[in-house]
Amino acid sequence: MSQILPAAIPARAFEQCADAIADAARELSMLGWTPATSSNFSMRVDAGHAAITVSGRHKGRLGRDDIMLIDLQGHAVGTDARPSAETALHTQIYRRWPEMNAVLHTHSRTQSVASRLFAGEGVIRLQGWELQKAISGYHTHESVLEIPVFPNTQHMPELVARVDAWLDAGKPLHAYLIDGHGIYTWGRDMAETQRHLEALEFLLGCELDLKRLRAS
Ligand SMILES: [Zn+2]
Repeated sequence: MSQILPAAIPARAFEQCADAIADAARELSMLGWTPATSSNFSMRVDAGHAAITVSGRHKGRLGRDDIMLIDLQGHAVGTDARPSAETALHTQIYRRWPEMNAVLHTHSRTQSVASRLFAGEGVIRLQGWELQKAISGYHTHESVLEIPVFPNTQHMPELVARVDAWLDAGKPLHAYLIDGHGIYTWGRDMAETQRHLEALEFLLGCELDLKRLRAS
């Protein structure tokens, strides 16, 4: 393994994160949500570090060498591998929420189409769906779950600023879409994060079906 860990991080801690990322990535790849080496995944390793996918690797075939250590400013630590181009969006979540420990970003067809369809409104409002309860903190289908849709850009500081602005306005945030691109969601552990992602994929698919059926 070309990854050299700082003395304060036990190899086991890094390996557990790397294996959890690789397992989740394999499942998401099989679902077709990570086409053409897209998507990126991370887990917090300790208060100041995260493990994240190396840029450009096929997500269905990740091994430990495809996961690298970064600090929460997004710099590589103990490796010359290059982290995902969107690393700043992961580290932003770890910096803002000390209790969040995993971030998943995928590019499924449903996520991509929904992001285009709702980009004009800038938000998708989910209400009346039982599966909203899969999102931590939501206990009834009657609540409104807002998923913002931010404009796509290759300039990460712009997206970081949009996420910060949403949060600084005091609005809850459990996930966001990027127009024509995909979704970000997170949780306290990998299982919770995968549950969020699966629920959101399902809910977005339902909204797209409703739009289609109402238009026909
Ligand atoms: Zn992406």
